[in-house]
Amino acid sequence: MEKTDVLIAGLGPVGAALGVYLARSGVKVIVVEKTIEVYPMPRAAHLDHETMRLLDLAGGAVAVAGNSQPLSSYEFRNAKGDLLLGFRPPAALADTGWPYTSMFHQPTLEIAMREALTEEPDASVRLGVSLIGYTDGPDGVTVEVEGPDGKTQIAAKYLVGCDGGQSTVRRLAGIGLDDMGFDEPWLVIDTLLKDGTERLSTIGLQHCDPARPVTSMPMAPGRHRWEFMLLDGETPEDVMTDEAIEAMIAPFADPKSLSVERRAFYRFHAVFAERWRDGHVILAGDAAHQMPPFLGQGLCSGVRDAANLSWKLAAVVRGEADQALLDSFQPEREPHVRAITEMAVAMGKIVCTQDEALAAARDADMMQKPEAARFDATPALAGLASGVIAGGGAVAPCLRGEGGARPDVLLGMRPCLVGARRADAPADVPVDGGGMAVIALDEHEGEGEAPFRALLGDAPAMLVRPDRYVFGTGEPASLLAAWSAYLKTGRAEMRAAA
Ligand SMILES: Cc1cc2nc3c(=O)[nH]c(=O)nc-3n(C[C@H](O)[C@H](O)[C@H](O)COP(=O)(O)OP(=O)(O)OC[C@H]3O[C@@H](n4cnc5c(N)ncnc54)[C@H](O)[C@@H]3O)c2cc1C
Repeated sequence: MEKTDVLIAGLGPVGAALGVYLARSGVKVIVVEKTIEVYPMPRAAHLDHETMRLLDLAGGAVAVAGNSQPLSSYEFRNAKGDLLLGFRPPAALADTGWPYTSMFHQPTLEIAMREALTEEPDASVRLGVSLIGYTDGPDGVTVEVEGPDGKTQIAAKYLVGCDGGQSTVRRLAGIGLDDMGFDEPWLVIDTLLKDGTERLSTIGLQHCDPARPVTSMPMAPGRHRWEFMLLDGETPEDVMTDEAIEAMIAPFADPKSLSVERRAFYRFHAVFAERWRDGHVILAGDAAHQMPPFLGQGLCSGVRDAANLSWKLAAVVRGEADQALLDSFQPEREPHVRAITEMAVAMGKIVCTQDEALAAARDADMMQKPEAARFDATPALAGLASGVIAGGGAVAPCLRGEGGARPDVLLGMRPCLVGARRADAPADVPVDGGGMAVIALDEHEGEGEAPFRALLGDAPAMLVRPDRYVFGTGEPASLLAAWSAYLKTGRAEMRAAA
């Protein structure tokens, strides 16, 4: 029987990112994907800066950056056009080195990551092959797959279900869904702008009109996204026709100035898998959680899952960490995704109101504040609150090398000790686990090191986890000892470093 370290079911963005991270960490990976082409229907349009940084480590961000644009603002306006709520992402780059918002085209990202994965010698991609069953045993999983050559079995130390919202792995594992009770029907339309027009607007608009809630969003240059909520009693067929779509676009743009590229009906909902791990079987991305798209965070959350899981799986597979380290995956990721999902649901409730009286009360309530106070910065994303952290949890900044070099990419999925001064760094880094990198900030003056110094405060060093969360700050020797101990014991809840 064919053997591998990790079998990933599903080559969406999350399976692709996880595959690249693992393969670049020396883990043998097989990825099976039931379809041949990337998903053809409209989905993600927005990526945040943290995700761009993680996608850069998975070979996807450069393609996106070459074909995306930032939002100048994200505005929720009522039927009369009054501002209810708005966000203005800073125009400068974030401390990660990427724009706060990138409006993009999901297939561009997926194609780039597939290419990156295919180039990895430790990764094997099997398109047109579906996972149809598995048996978990004491030493790993026997996975049954079916493709053009029939059915076959593959032995893997771990199986990760990155197989999307309808996850077969989740169903086979008997894992139920916790439903947050949000469930709204929307038609999603991607359009191509004619005559070389790059954009209709730089503003992402939620038109909170009870007569028809509408989303209007720039995507990659030359494309524009429209989303129309179905009204009570309407069926998808009622609104899917060219005539119906033209009529719904007409109040916002000349329908003749664009053409419909893709259309799909979705129920926007918020669900969580009850367990994200069952023995040697793990769920990530949409298989583990789904949220409505009002914050543009579903894919971003899945990529954070992939980054979180990859270094832990790699350390366990290489024998450097106890299997219990994997127990920290859900406790770290779920509160983060839940907080974002709750924010997305709250925004969805503002947008999806179809009752005129409730909409009027909403408007009166939200417009009590002066207009300027209704604008905020981009919604703040939390760091990690619990798990394999020793007093850390913030997202680490990113150095910017000369001539656009990206030292973050060279670092790969390794932990990194960042010291204020070379003189403080231990000459010999006594740590098992993925090859600890060492960066001395005094050797990187003028390369964006100031945010690191702000996070360091008076501490001489910080340890950054491979997924770019700060593990802790303190004396280099005690940070290294704490990191080494955590990997060996796999204890999930940590105290502050000594
Ligand atoms: C309208 C809309 C707008 C959105 N906007 C945003 C946004 O702006 N920003 C954002 O971050 N997110 C957004 N999202 C969410 C985002 O698209 C998803 O979270 C993301 O695509 C999930 O990626 P994934 O890899 O987990 O799953 P998927 O992309 O669904 O990939 C799963 C893959 O698994 C394969 N598969 C399934 N079953 C099997 C099997 N048995 N064997 C083998 N392969 C299998 C499927 O063919 C598929 O390729 C949006 C979603 C929608 C619907």
